[in-house]
Amino acid sequence: MSKDYYDILGVSKTASADEIKTAFRKKAHEHHPDKGGNAEKFKELNEAYQVLGNTEKRQRYDQFGSAAFNQGGGGANWGGFGGQGFGGFQNGNMNFDMDDLGDIFGGFGDIFGFGGGRQGAKRAARGRDMEMNLNLDFMAAAFGTEKEISFAKNMVCGHCQGNGAEPGAKIETCGHCHGTGRVASVQRTILGNIQTQSPCPSCGGEGKTISQKCTKCGGTGVYRDQVKIKVRVPAGINDGESIRLSGQGEAGQKGASAGDLYLRINVAPHKKFKREGYDIKTEETISIQQAILGDKIDVETIHGALKLKIPEGTQSGTIFKLRDKGVTKLHNRGIGDQYVKISVKIPSGLNKKQKTLLEELGI
Ligand SMILES: [Zn+2]
Ligand SMILES: [Zn+2]
Repeated sequence: MSKDYYDILGVSKTASADEIKTAFRKKAHEHHPDKGGNAEKFKELNEAYQVLGNTEKRQRYDQFGSAAFNQGGGGANWGGFGGQGFGGFQNGNMNFDMDDLGDIFGGFGDIFGFGGGRQGAKRAARGRDMEMNLNLDFMAAAFGTEKEISFAKNMVCGHCQGNGAEPGAKIETCGHCHGTGRVASVQRTILGNIQTQSPCPSCGGEGKTISQKCTKCGGTGVYRDQVKIKVRVPAGINDGESIRLSGQGEAGQKGASAGDLYLRINVAPHKKFKREGYDIKTEETISIQQAILGDKIDVETIHGALKLKIPEGTQSGTIFKLRDKGVTKLHNRGIGDQYVKISVKIPSGLNKKQKTLLEELGI
């Protein structure tokens, strides 16, 4: 029989992800067995949230109902989620890997007290991504530039080449976990007994022990230092965009790959030029005579000054397009244009003679 997960969480079928999360949290607190709630009900809530709290699973559920998740008689068959690395779950007594808890129970580690389940993972952690602001002036963003930036980050320790062992130290198989890096323990939870595999406390999940840790990095394989790098900023980058520098983030522990560095671009405004995408917008003021009789005026572009022909009878608010006078598009996909908006200055405070002459013109 298909279960109505929306009903269980008390949300509508169109509820947003946030609404679902909020509803789950509220209900989970209400029905928490530690607070005298109903364990079955709590289990059901969990089941519903596992599905509705995940965009992909929610879609599948909306399409096929809870049958898509292979409900067995004795509760969820977690293996049925397929392709998500939940294979560690078995019916009845659950048996899973602490590493996966971070993913599965990610949103509510506080309830289960599993927070920090990811610590001491067997696989060395990839370095953290970093984010920094990069301030550019208007022209540098339009034409590209090279910038030197300096910041502190974790780098691969040169003393141990990142393996964490003092040169010459002996590296041996851990006697505690016999090299598997894992130890089993049974945890009693509201969902029944859960056998967990946690990282071996003796070797930190490495499966190996080192007779002497690297004296420079303390065995982590990384150390923090100030670095300077040159960044090539491409022509056409705009305010709010980012540059990703692959592998320029923090070094991973013990030889794991480095994170990426993201540079968030802030472009300072220009007093003359306004940018809209790859186009430039400017304004020019002309006199009433120039508007009526026509003229050639000097116009600034980011590529230098040029003459713009003002035809006879130009109205205030007219926009002239200067083809290819904008910003070079990223990846050399052409170039933007400049748009010059004309405003006509209407004179005020005319003397009597001027007024009479103007009236005589009859325009
Ligand atoms: Zn070291
Ligand atoms: Zn061990």
